[in-house]
This record gives sequence, structure tokens and C-alpha cells, in this order.
Amino acid sequence: MLRITGGRVYDPANGVDGVVKDVCIADGRIVPQVEGGRTIDATGLIVFPGGVDIHTHVAGAALNFARGLTPENMRRGLPFVHTKDLRAGLGGVTPTTFATGYLYAGMGWTTVNEAAVPILSARHTHEELHDTPIVDKSCLVLMANNEIVLDLLEAGEVERATHVVGWLIWAAKAYGVKAVNPGGVAAWKWGKDAKVLSGPIEGYSSLTPAAIIAGLAKIVDDLKLPHPLHLHCNNLGTPGNVSTTLETLKILEGHRAHLAHLQFHAYGGNDWGTIRSEAAVLAEYFNTHPNLTTDAGAMLFGDTVTITADGPLEHLLHQLSGRKWGNVDVENETGCGIVPHTYKPSKLVNAVQWAVGLELLLLINDPWRVFLTTDHPNGACFWRYPEIIRLLMDAEFRKEQIKALPPETLNRTALADIDRQYTLSEIAIISAAGPARALGLSQKGHLGVGADADVALYEEHPDSGILFEYPRYVIKGGDVVVEEGQLRNVSNGRQFLVHPAFDDQIEAYLRPLFQKVYTMSFDNYPVEIERLQEPDIKPCA
Ligand SMILES: [Zn+2]
Repeated sequence: MLRITGGRVYDPANGVDGVVKDVCIADGRIVPQVEGGRTIDATGLIVFPGGVDIHTHVAGAALNFARGLTPENMRRGLPFVHTKDLRAGLGGVTPTTFATGYLYAGMGWTTVNEAAVPILSARHTHEELHDTPIVDKSCLVLMANNEIVLDLLEAGEVERATHVVGWLIWAAKAYGVKAVNPGGVAAWKWGKDAKVLSGPIEGYSSLTPAAIIAGLAKIVDDLKLPHPLHLHCNNLGTPGNVSTTLETLKILEGHRAHLAHLQFHAYGGNDWGTIRSEAAVLAEYFNTHPNLTTDAGAMLFGDTVTITADGPLEHLLHQLSGRKWGNVDVENETGCGIVPHTYKPSKLVNAVQWAVGLELLLLINDPWRVFLTTDHPNGACFWRYPEIIRLLMDAEFRKEQIKALPPETLNRTALADIDRQYTLSEIAIISAAGPARALGLSQKGHLGVGADADVALYEEHPDSGILFEYPRYVIKGGDVVVEEGQLRNVSNGRQFLVHPAFDDQIEAYLRPLFQKVYTMSFDNYPVEIERLQEPDIKPCA
């Protein structure tokens, strides 16, 4: 039992905005009262619900590939002392499993959603998530280039496709569906992409990206998954892609949807020389369409490594930057590309990208529908979130930063004219309450009675960037894991997944097809539930 007393509590989901009140914890949950037990004096501290990362890449074959491809990053920092409680880990831009759990918890984040899992390698992802301590996890399975699903959509067999998707989600022990560059990754196997939403995809006579987007959005709604279709739009990262993004949003009308890393999809201009921000146009669309949520995918200057299922995009990035490049095609399901990357403040394109991420966070009015992410590690590493919080909370500091960028940035972006400053309550929404709600995780992101006791206590400090960097205490599921700024206790996390309703007979359809086209036997394909650490199956309703 635990009582946190004297802190200023920010719990926007329950309408609590900086009120000094006690938070009581028993059996891993928030409770109305406790008698006895430990008391933490939180006088002078602010009390937040534990952070929830709705879109990150922390586990699985792609991450391991990136770790192997960038030994120069693994050498760089944050080696952990190997003690009785702390396992050895490497930090850098793609931290190893143990370090990932320590770093998230050490920042006050307690739930992470791994956003891109191929079914074929889901077992590997679960093994790594199992080894990622403290945080609770969920994962999304890649579906917009799965050839079994695409063939059914082309044939107009949406009902059968729905059963197949339900079966595949359960086979991967996943929580939801991710669509990456619909059709473009399948086309990439022939060196092509899918740049036009209304045009047939390479290898298909009539199936278009638009039909895949509409089909999957309907399937996810029909399966009643707690999290809507999680979509990485076509034409990521290219000048003028805002028109594709707007066209995508129109296709999604009438459905719920979450748009991933919107920063990478909000560019105007005709080429790299004329690229400009179109964040305002997308923000206006979001402000009038409550069916949508998004995460920023904000970018910060510095070294990172890009990792995405969007194979053609990575090839383009490699051609542009000349940096080393890795590509994997995952049989007939998806693909993956890796390219190390450096965002430079002296480069106009990067300056525009930096501004776009912040503009989206500042121009979308409703903090419940735009969330703090960097698409870790694509825009920047997750452990740099406090830098973004400072930029959002301090307009003067933000304007100072703009002065260091190429002067032409002012003509290509609107950031210098935006005076909005986030409040602490709004930070709690974009980092915890909002993403928890969008994920459909009702026990996360808030401090109401019955919620999981995931709590972060930060020091009040005029410099908001420092405030969020090192929480004084972090409590995960009722365990005090960070104390006086030190990681003291390492607990295991749970794993959220869904078991959608599907017709069991769908196996009779899949088995012969599978034996024909896959290199793995059908019976070895599904991940066993026993592989998951503390599985927690959420209802589809
Ligand atoms: Zn991503």
C-alpha cells in the first residue's frame, strides 16, 4: 500500500488540473483510500499518470537489424552497470531490450505500443518484448501489404478477408492493425512503389491503395478492435505529399483511424528545393474531423537511424544521403528498410521537418487527438521527449531556436508566428491520457479509482525541459521503480492483446494456401500464448 501526499496532481481524464491531493495505491491499482503502508511526501512535486507511447519501434527483427547495422551508435552512450537488479544494456539510438525498459521508465513512461510487427517474425518480437522490463506493451501487426489479404480485397471478398485478418491478429498475438504504405511495400518487391492512391498496384489488375485503406479501416471497425486502423500513409517523407495525406483522410471518412507520425506526411512544394510546411492544412482537417487521431512523429536535430516497413522510402533515403542501407523482404507479408540518418539544423529540408512536427502539435486544437511521439527512432529517440515538451511549453525558447535555422525557414513554415504554449495539463494529455484513450486502454493514462497505479512524480522547475528529464519517483503497477531519480526496482510488464471473433473454418481456407506460398509450416506460424509475459487480453466490443 502506498499514499502519495502533498503533490499537485494532473489527471486530465478525471478533470483534475493541478490540485493538491493524495493518490492512494493498493494491489497495483489506484484506490480511494489506504490505511497504513508507505507514504511518499510529494510536496513541491507534480504528479502525472505514467506516459503512454502510442507509436514506437523497440522490439523485433527490424530493431535487431538496425542495432547490427549501426555499431557506431551502440558504442555511444548509456552503458548500464551490470548489477544484481540491472541487466547490461546498450543505449544509443536503438537501445537494447533491457535498456529500453529502463530508459522509458526512467523518463516516467510506463506503456509502449510497438507499431510494426510482421506476423512471420512476431515470435521474435514477443521474445524481445518479454525481455523489455517495467513497461507494459502492446504491438500492431502489419497488414496493408499481406498478399493473402490483398488478394481477397481485390476479389471483393471483404467478409473472408475480415476473418483472415482476425485470425492473423490472434496468430501474431497482437493488439491492433498497422497499415504501412498500402500496396507500396508489396510493389517494392518488383522495385516499384504505390504513389497514386487511385491507381492499380504492381502485380494486381484492379486493387488500389485507396481500396486497401478503405477495406482495412472497415475490417478493423467490423472486428471492433479497441484501437482503430493505425495508418502510415503513402508517399511518406516526400515533398508535396500533403495531397496524398488529404486524399487518404477523405477515404477514411465514416471510419475511426489513427494517422501515424503525421510530421512525415505534411509537406508541400514540388521538390526538395521547394519543400514547405503544410501542417496548417492538415491541422484544419483534423480540427473538423473527430473520427481521427494522430501522433506527431516530431523530429529533433541529431543522429538517428530510420527503420520502417516502407522499403521504397528507405531506398530513396539511401540514394539521397549515400548512407548505408539495409533491406529485408518478409516473404509475402511486408518488408523493412534501415538507413542511418542525421538531421542537421543547417539543412533547410530538416529545418522544415523540425518545424512541421511542432506545428502539428500546436495547431491541432484538441490535445486529446494529437500525441507526443518521434516515431522512435525515425524522427529522434524516445528519450529526447523532454526536449519536445520544453519546445511546446516555452514559446520564447522555441523562437530562439528558429533563429539558428536557415533564414528561408521563416518563409516555408508558420512556427515563428505561433504563440501557443502547452500547459502541464495539456502535456499530461498528449503524453498519457490521450494516447491511452486512443489505444482503448481504459486503465491507463489516468489516476482515477481502478486505474493501473502507473504514476510519475516530477520536480517543479521553471525550465520545463529539465523538469521532465529525471522524474523523482516512478511507480509502475504499484511498485516504486524509480526513487530519488534512481532506478531501484525492476518489475515485469504485462502484454496487451486482443482475440477478435473470427470463423474457425478460416483455417481450412488458409492452410493449403499457406503450404503453397510460405517457407514455414502452417502449424509453426502462430505465436503460442505461453510466449507472452503476463498476457492481458482486451475485449473487442
Ligand atoms: Zn513508425
